[in-house]
Amino acid sequence: MKQNEEVRCLIVGSGPAGYTAAIYASRANLSPVLYTGAQPGGQLTTTTTVENFPGYPEGVDGIQLMMDLRAQAEKFGASVREGAIVKADMSVAPYKITTDDDHIIEAQTVIIATGATAKYLGIDDEKKYAGAGVSACATCDGFFYRKKTVAVVGGGDTACEEAIYLASLAKQVYLIVRKPFLRASKVMQKRVIETENITILFEHNILGLFGDGKVEGTHLIKRMGESDEEKVDIAIDGFFLAIGHSPNSDVFKQWIDTDDNGYIVTIPGTPKTKVPGVFAAGDVADPYYRQAITSAGTGCAAAIEAERYLSEIKK
Ligand code: NDP
Repeated sequence: MKQNEEVRCLIVGSGPAGYTAAIYASRANLSPVLYTGAQPGGQLTTTTTVENFPGYPEGVDGIQLMMDLRAQAEKFGASVREGAIVKADMSVAPYKITTDDDHIIEAQTVIIATGATAKYLGIDDEKKYAGAGVSACATCDGFFYRKKTVAVVGGGDTACEEAIYLASLAKQVYLIVRKPFLRASKVMQKRVIETENITILFEHNILGLFGDGKVEGTHLIKRMGESDEEKVDIAIDGFFLAIGHSPNSDVFKQWIDTDDNGYIVTIPGTPKTKVPGVFAAGDVADPYYRQAITSAGTGCAAAIEAERYLSEIKK
């Protein structure tokens, strides 16, 4: 029979939270083992240049940044493994965590840094124009649309926030909302309405995108299914999805608290979950900021807490 592997600190996920946790945990002699998940390097590997990560005045390629973080973690002894976690038993410590190749790890501490995945509409044109005008992160890519025209899809707080942010850079922002109202909080709605260069297109659905090699416009349908349904095309340079994120918390949900949207709930101001020795860091526990640098910060905090927890139980 295969022997279970015992580890002091298991880190799940390889975005800025996971790798930062690995850097801190390895420097604290926890010999961390990190599983990368299905998308090694996480969301930043899907963007081009990252210009808002401190320390890179000229910007840094997203893939390069993640390779550097990985190298830094490995330099201090973290064991980085490609693979995903498919099952967790957190009923009693050490926690039994199963990988996608049926390997069972008994972990004294677990740092969940599995991130969140931006939701897409699921239309073919999103793939066709990926990296050529389609984005799911205004803060990451907005800068490339200075003085241009962009569309933001969605009617929630994220869409409003992204539209407001983009309006500070772009010439014109269209907020495309499928319902006749915004779902966002009143304060956000007010800000959007008061921003001169945001035009809200209520009751519009997306049919597709067009353009020669890059996004030049979007095909919309107004009042879909109604007697006065109408097709409308608008010219845009950038198309931003803001229809929500799905936190990747499913594997752990049975053991820890999550909110209505699946985000892991931690003890406020800490990365601690309700299970002792289990911590959450990065986007999987953060519906608000969702930035590489905030994720890195919580990854650091989780590793420090893991180290403190292990010292406590040793006493
Ligand atoms: P939400 O789920 O709140 O909103 C998603 C929006 O996208 C809705 O308007 C929804 O439309 C729309 N949508 C979903 N699918 C489609 C589709 N296929 N086509 C067109 N439109 C679509 O997600 P958010 O990311 O905005 O917010 C998530 C949580 O995070 C919320 O609780 C929010 O309050 C919170 N948040 C708070 C912030 C803050 O306080 N500063 C900032 C950002 C988020 P419909 O309404 O028709 O369903």
